[in-house]
Amino acid sequence: MANKQRTIKDKLRALSENIQRNFKLRSNILLAIILIVGFGAAICRLGYLQIFMADELQQKAVDQQLTDTTISAKRGTIYDANGKILATSASVWRVVLAPVYFENDEERRFVAEELSEILGIDEETIYEKSQAKLYYSEIKRKIESDTREKILELQDEMKEKDINPNVVFLMDDYKRYYPYGDLASSVIGFTGSDDQGLSGIEYQYDKELTGTPGRLITATNAQGTAMPFQYSQNIDAVDGHNLVLTIDETIQSIAEKYMEQAIEEHAVYNRGVCIIMDVNTGAVKAMASVGGFDLNDPYTLPESALEEIRKLPEEERAAAESAALSKMWRNKAVSDTYYPGSVFKMFTAAMGVEENLVDESSTFYCPGYYTVTGQTMHCHLRSGHGTQTFRESIKNSCNPAFMQQGEKIGTELFWQYYQAFGFSERTGIDLPGEANDIFFSEDGSMLPVNLATASFGQNFAVTPIQMATAVCSIANGGYIVQPHVVSQILDDEGNVYSTTSTEVKRQVISSETAALIADILEENAVSGSGKNGYVAGYRVAGKTGTSEKKNDSNGDGVDDYIASFCGFAPAENAEVVCLVFFDTPTGDAYYGSQVAAPVFAQIMSEVLPYLQVATQYTEEELAQLDTIAGTYVGLSVSDAQTAASADGFTTSVKGSGDTVLAQVPGAGTPIPQGGNVVLYTDEDSAKTQIEMPDLTGYTVYDVNYLCSLYDINISITGATDSYLCTATSQSIPAGTMVSPGTLVTVNFTAGGFSD
Ligand SMILES: [Zn+2]
Repeated sequence: MANKQRTIKDKLRALSENIQRNFKLRSNILLAIILIVGFGAAICRLGYLQIFMADELQQKAVDQQLTDTTISAKRGTIYDANGKILATSASVWRVVLAPVYFENDEERRFVAEELSEILGIDEETIYEKSQAKLYYSEIKRKIESDTREKILELQDEMKEKDINPNVVFLMDDYKRYYPYGDLASSVIGFTGSDDQGLSGIEYQYDKELTGTPGRLITATNAQGTAMPFQYSQNIDAVDGHNLVLTIDETIQSIAEKYMEQAIEEHAVYNRGVCIIMDVNTGAVKAMASVGGFDLNDPYTLPESALEEIRKLPEEERAAAESAALSKMWRNKAVSDTYYPGSVFKMFTAAMGVEENLVDESSTFYCPGYYTVTGQTMHCHLRSGHGTQTFRESIKNSCNPAFMQQGEKIGTELFWQYYQAFGFSERTGIDLPGEANDIFFSEDGSMLPVNLATASFGQNFAVTPIQMATAVCSIANGGYIVQPHVVSQILDDEGNVYSTTSTEVKRQVISSETAALIADILEENAVSGSGKNGYVAGYRVAGKTGTSEKKNDSNGDGVDDYIASFCGFAPAENAEVVCLVFFDTPTGDAYYGSQVAAPVFAQIMSEVLPYLQVATQYTEEELAQLDTIAGTYVGLSVSDAQTAASADGFTTSVKGSGDTVLAQVPGAGTPIPQGGNVVLYTDEDSAKTQIEMPDLTGYTVYDVNYLCSLYDINISITGATDSYLCTATSQSIPAGTMVSPGTLVTVNFTAGGFSD
C-alpha cells in the first residue's frame, strides 16, 4: 500500500517539477526579450501582470479554470470469518496524457500511433486529445501490468526521441477481484465500472468500503494553454474500510457443493437456497443461492439461459437477457418468499404447547381428511393416520391433526405468534433486497379455512431468512436473534472499527416449550418423516416440507413445488440451524423428504465435524463405527492377515508373493467394521483394476452383497433402517476404474414418506 501511495506522490512530484522547470524556462526567455527589445507597451503590460498581479491572477485561474482529477481510493477488502479474502482490489493503472508538453505535431503523431497500438484505441481519438493544452487527459482506465510494461517501454523510447516523457504517465487505479469466483456470489455481490457496489454486501456496505478519493487539481488559463505559473494541489486518497463476514468459506463451499449436486440430480428449475446460521448469535455461516454466477464476470449468463434467449424473436431478446441476469443475481435467501409447508408445523405445535392447549397426552384423529366450514382437505396419507398422539402427529406430518391444533389456537393467538416468531416483519439482515412476507391479511384477520391451511404452512409465504431465524428460536430456548453477515469492520490498517454484537430481539416461547419441540424434532429425524435428514453420530432435529406454489413456471403442465428441510444440531444445546430448499424440482422426486432432507444430512455430516461439534453416538451407531486400517505393507502375508484380523477386518490376498507390497484401503483409512482389506503381494497384482458398479437403486442388503462380489468396501450414510431405503448416490461414480478394496461411500434415502 505504502508503495502505491509513493508512486502517486512520485508522479505528482515529477509533474509539478516539470511545471516549475517550464515556468523557469519561460521566465528566462521573457527576461531576455524584455532586456533586448526594451519596455514596449504590450510587454510592459505582460510584465506588470506577471510581477504584480501574479497572486490575483493565480486565484482567478484556480477559481475559473480548475482541472479537477480524482485519485482512486483503494476499496476495502472483504474477508470470510477466518480471514480468507473473498473480495479485494488489485492494482491496475490509468494511462494519462499531458498534451501540454508536446512540442510539435510529429511528436503527437508518434505518441498517438504507439498508444493506439498498445491500448487498442483509435489513433485519431488519441491524436485529437493530444491537441488540447491540458496537463491531464485520461486515455484508458484499469490497464493490467503487462500493458503497463509496454507504456514504460514507450516512455523510454520517447526519451530517446527527445519527447518530454511526462507527456504520457501512469496513475494508480484499482480493479475488484473475487478469488473464489462464484462462491457466495449473491451475498458478496459485485461492483460497477466506477468501483461502486451494485449488489450484495458490495452494495449494502458501499459507504464503508469505498473510502475517500483524493484530488489532483491543476489549472489552465482562459485560452486553455498552460499558464506561466501553476497552481496544483494534491489531496491523498483515504482507503476504504475492510469487512469481516460471518460467512465461513469452508462451510459455504460444503453447502454449495451438495446443493449443486442435488439441483442437477433433481432437475431443479428455479435454483435452491441453503442457510446455515449460529442459533445463539444469528451469525450467518453460509448463505447460498445456487446456481450462482462468477463475480469476476457477472454479466455472462450460463449457456442454458442463452440458449433459451436465442429461441426468442429478436425484439424480445434484450428484455429476456436483463430478466435472466436479475434472476441469476437474485439472493433467493432474502428476496424470495415461499410457502413454508410442513416445516411450519413446528411453530403451530409450539404455539399450542406454550398456550397449554396441547401437550404430550393430547390425541388427534385422522381419517385421511378434515373438513372446515364445508371445505374438505386431505392428508398426504389418504387412508388416514387414525388416532395419533401430539408427538406422532409431528412425526407423521399429518395435516388433519394440525388443522385441529390450529382450531384450538384460534386466529387471534395464531396471528400474535406469527408476528412474535418474526414472520410479519423483515428480519433486518444487513443485505439488500429483503422481501416482506405475504399473509392472508395485513391485520392478521383470516377465515377459519385460512387458519386451517396456515396451521400446516400452506397459502402464506415467508422468506428463507425469516424461516431460518424463527427455527433458531426453537433451537436456542425461545429467542429471536438478529441475523447478520458482517461481524466486524476494520480500518485500512486492520484496527477494529466496529463489531456486530449479538442482538436478542425477544423471547417467543419458554425454554421448556422449545426443548419439547426440539426433542420431538430429533425423534422425527431418526424415525419420523424427517429421517432422511439423519446424521450418524450427531443428535440432529428437523422437519421436512413440501409445498405447492399454485403456478407452473417451467411450463411442464404441473404445479411447481418447493421441497425443503429445516433442522438443527445438536438437538439439545444446539449450535447451528440449516435450512435447505429447492424451488421446483422437475425430476421424479419432489417431496422435501426425498429431495431436501438427504442434502441437509450430507451438508451437516461435513459441517458438524468441521465445527468440532461433539459426537454423541448411540450404542447401535457405536457398533457400526469405523475402524482405522493399520499398516500391513512390509509384513509377511500370514503376519499381515493376523494383524488385520486383530483390527477387525477380513483380508483377500492378490498375487503369489510372500510379502505384502501394497494394501487397499491404505493405512490410516477409516473402514466400517468387518470391512475387507486387499493385500497385494506382487507388482502385477497391484495393477489389477475393477470397474465400479452402479449401486444406486439397491437396498442396503443388495449393496452389501454387490460390494462383496466386487471386493469393494462400503461406508453407508443416510437412512438405512428399513427395506424401503435405497441407495441414491455413491462417492465414486459407476464405471470408474479402481483397485480392489477401494472404499466407496453410499448414501441411502428412505422411500414411503411424502412430505
Ligand atoms: Zn393424517
